[in-house]
Amino acid sequence: METVEVFTSEGKGRALKAVKEFLSGEVIFAEPAYAAVVFDSLTHLICHTCFKRQEKLHRCGQCKFAHYCDRTCQRGAWLNHKNECSAIKKHGKAPNENIRLAARIMWRIEREGGGLTEGSLVSIDDLQNHVENFGEEEKKELRADVESFIEFWPPQSQQFGMQYISHIFGVINCNGFTLSDQRGLQAVGVGVFPNLCLVNHDCWPNLCFRSTIELRALGKISPGEELTVSYIDFLNVSEDRRKQLKKQYYFDCTCEHCQKKIKDDLMLAVKEGEHKPSQDMVKEVIQFSKDTLEKINKARSEGVYHEVVKLCRECLKKQEPVLGDTNIYLLRILSIVSEVLSYLQMFEEAADHAKRMVDGYMYIYHPNNAQLGMAMMRAGVTHWHAGLIEIGHGMICKAYAILLVTHGPTHPITKDLEVMRVQTEMELRMFQQNEFMYYKMREAALSNQKVQVMPEPSTEASQDLFVKKQ
Ligand SMILES: [Zn+2]
Ligand SMILES: [Zn+2]
Ligand SMILES: [Zn+2]
Repeated sequence: METVEVFTSEGKGRALKAVKEFLSGEVIFAEPAYAAVVFDSLTHLICHTCFKRQEKLHRCGQCKFAHYCDRTCQRGAWLNHKNECSAIKKHGKAPNENIRLAARIMWRIEREGGGLTEGSLVSIDDLQNHVENFGEEEKKELRADVESFIEFWPPQSQQFGMQYISHIFGVINCNGFTLSDQRGLQAVGVGVFPNLCLVNHDCWPNLCFRSTIELRALGKISPGEELTVSYIDFLNVSEDRRKQLKKQYYFDCTCEHCQKKIKDDLMLAVKEGEHKPSQDMVKEVIQFSKDTLEKINKARSEGVYHEVVKLCRECLKKQEPVLGDTNIYLLRILSIVSEVLSYLQMFEEAADHAKRMVDGYMYIYHPNNAQLGMAMMRAGVTHWHAGLIEIGHGMICKAYAILLVTHGPTHPITKDLEVMRVQTEMELRMFQQNEFMYYKMREAALSNQKVQVMPEPSTEASQDLFVKKQ
């Protein structure tokens, strides 16, 4: 850890700064979880050691709760699972993820103490818990968690006071990071990473946090510069971002983008020129968009995708004469409708919407934003399916360049993109040499293989870094 240093940042308290220069895409540091658990809903689908999603998992013969890829993962888990295993057996069933994570932290403290451990810049004891900021509802939940914990915690283990147990739950509540599966597409668990807790928020950060444990530079970082990540998605106006940060993380964002309201005008853009809409009209369309988004989320979570498409088309009709191309309410609808239409194999219409979505995103997001990269990839694949090879290839190249920085060259998604880049480049060359032959070949290829199905649209669009109630 000679490349970063803890310091006090004005108005923000403890922070981390660079000691050396970092280049775009460089890994600042990688940190294994201090403790981590699989989400309750996925305990039988995800390996409890490596957090990979596997077809067949082996069950722990003792507690019948823990699941592993194989013997290696099971052996690797034993130090952390041993106490948990016998406690679950005694208790009769496994408690919820919060209790399990707290217990894993406490057993590690029992083994090593709560002070600084090797490679860490801050100890568990020293992490912030924000318990004093909790509202009534949160306090109630905290009390319930502490009670369930005490019921679960075995009498032969080291005993901790109520206050210390509350501290641990407070730490989990404000510092629980999301762990994703091997492809980084689904949140599968929660873990505590003490060093990461030192990295403060900025709506326009210089780092991104991916692959559960790596912090990567989004551009050149000079020695002495404070290191920041974004705790939330940037695609909200500053006022809404600040509200969300205050509610979930208990601080007022004073970053430059919030103070100067940078990009708010783009996010709320309206049509210009002789058909410039009235303020009332804009208000009405935004309200209509908000209401429609609620209906869409409901239909989407129920898997009624044709209804989603219908709602989106109606909304776009209302938005188009009024909202500007970078307006976030328009972009949200474009994102949903392009994803769902791709899933329904209506690639041409999907491609058109996807193109407008990424064109808008490019004005708003940081050029190396991971969400932008993922959206670009989705748009590229959609164009490819629609037979729009030129645009599709261009998008896949752009997505690849972004993911090289945000995810790194060895991430499975980056590797997939590289394969797609080579494939589309070959198809593009064929297209340029002989368009007729290209379409013939494509037709033949498509009729020979079962049509590739796009992944089902995810119901939760959570891009957040932390596991947090909304
Ligand atoms: Zn495993
Ligand atoms: Zn077990
Ligand atoms: Zn901000």
